[in-house]
Amino acid sequence: MHKTIEIFLFIDALGWKIINDHQFMVDLFPYRRKIFMQFGYSSSAIPTILSGKTPAEHGHLGLFRFAPDHSPFKKLSRLAWLFKPESFWNRGRVRHHLSKILKRLYGFTGYFQLYRMPIWKLKFVDYCEKSDLFLANGMGNIANLHDTLYAKDIDFHISDWHLSDDENYTAAEKAIDHGKNFLFVYTASFDGVLHDNVGDFTTIQSKLDKIKIQIENLYKKAAEHAETVHFTIFSDHGMTPLTGTVDMIKKITESGLVFGQDYGVCYDSTMARFYYLNNNAKKVIEEMMKLFPGHFLSKEEEIRYGIYRQDRAFGDGIFLLDAGLQIVPSDMGEKPLNGMHGFSPEDEHSFAAILSNTDFPESVKHVSDYYDLMLERADNL
Ligand SMILES: [Zn+2]
Repeated sequence: MHKTIEIFLFIDALGWKIINDHQFMVDLFPYRRKIFMQFGYSSSAIPTILSGKTPAEHGHLGLFRFAPDHSPFKKLSRLAWLFKPESFWNRGRVRHHLSKILKRLYGFTGYFQLYRMPIWKLKFVDYCEKSDLFLANGMGNIANLHDTLYAKDIDFHISDWHLSDDENYTAAEKAIDHGKNFLFVYTASFDGVLHDNVGDFTTIQSKLDKIKIQIENLYKKAAEHAETVHFTIFSDHGMTPLTGTVDMIKKITESGLVFGQDYGVCYDSTMARFYYLNNNAKKVIEEMMKLFPGHFLSKEEEIRYGIYRQDRAFGDGIFLLDAGLQIVPSDMGEKPLNGMHGFSPEDEHSFAAILSNTDFPESVKHVSDYYDLMLERADNL
């Protein structure tokens, strides 16, 4: 019997607004706070949660970045002529299988998806999540949660992100049976439900009802093995309903500028990250982007969001769309989704959330603060 078991449950996209709209588990988790999301997507938030570092420090903002000198895909891009017609190779299922093959070929252990990134463009880009962020030494020089808990000699369990949520709940219960007293449980399926059903109260409610049962079971299991259970749920961002789409690729392609010679760009779902290879390209693109509802992030915003890098690895100019709009098509997808995240962190739908059955310090305000909270709790075990 342990004195305390610490459970940290990550629920992707369980934003502050949804928690309140659905009055999610108010009784079991009375301590709750609105959390400033990590600018970017889950691919930025996860490494931040696992290390306490900002994207500027850990280098993950958007899965791809324009970096012709560092592209691991040069050989593949030379075979671009093989991947015809494009309509076939852009199909979701085909892309999924191709991603799997490439992941194995390149020995990537992290999350790898090509999304809709054109094959010809691959030789210009590098991919940030080459290794498994959850495992020992998964973040290079930066200590991650696994490294730190291991160094502290904590008997911990960290989910395997490859598994389904059901499997991860089951694995967590087993870990408790095996004597673990610190758990980081990862679940991602709520994000998928919201991308498709953000406006559908009933569908969201029934998913939340299912999650509630899983949480209660895990809680019960922990209570059998400890005098006190500290149960904390946190998320990385919310979900913003679709309000419209913009076709940026068409406009920029028509500009006459040559990709790879004049400029580089990564089109994420909600932002375009431009790399200027000469002054004229900067002028033309900045002028052209005035047509779109959004803005280039100021240096002050980049610093505030933890994404400012002097080497401009994330782009010389980051153009963020107004909340609700999506770039369609983008390097990430062919079609719009009913909901998307990765907008301004100040948008009401963007905020993440933390819920707990135990009080936590005032200092927990940002997604990057979860890490210190976890370590503080681990130290007290
Ligand atoms: Zn998502």
